[in-house]
Amino acid sequence: MKRFRRWVFNGLVTISVLLLLPVAVLFVRSLFVTNLIQVFRENAIDTRTDYEDSFQFSMGLGGLSFERGRGERKFSNAYTASLLRKQSGYSYDNRYHVNWTNTRRAYGGIINGSRSFRFLGFRWRRIAQTPNEPFSGGFDITIPMLLPLAIFAILPFIFLRNRFIRTSRSEDNLCLACGYDLRATPDRCPECGTIPPRK
Ligand SMILES: [Zn+2]
Repeated sequence: MKRFRRWVFNGLVTISVLLLLPVAVLFVRSLFVTNLIQVFRENAIDTRTDYEDSFQFSMGLGGLSFERGRGERKFSNAYTASLLRKQSGYSYDNRYHVNWTNTRRAYGGIINGSRSFRFLGFRWRRIAQTPNEPFSGGFDITIPMLLPLAIFAILPFIFLRNRFIRTSRSEDNLCLACGYDLRATPDRCPECGTIPPRK
């Protein structure tokens, strides 16, 4: 049972390290480059109405954002619609497309409005559909990347701390389990009964 628990613990430490390293790299990278990954589809509902559906992920200055956008845009007439559709470069095929771009350097990367709720690096915004933001009937949420970093660092930290304690106890001839001085009783700890490993 004890061996099984140690095995599970070591497994979780390994997973934590494997997650910690890429998040740490992305965190440092986000301090210099702000990226935006957009997954979106465009559709022309009729001659003067566009529909857009999007998922956006962005990272910037230590913040990670997700934005969900959805909405319709009405053009004043079919002529303007066809003109602006050509300019936009969208394909209007109602299929999801992926676009990876550098964006404005900002916390979380996604543009934040004054209406947004913020607390300790967390940001939340419901985006109302307005004439200026026709495709924004959605929300965006930002979390500080330090949060996953801290979570993935907990188990590796405990692992290293345990190792350090064991090493220093072993060097000082103390019981590995409880720290009792074993110089007088090297075969068995009188305090907790642990039998020390042979040197
Ligand atoms: Zn002991």
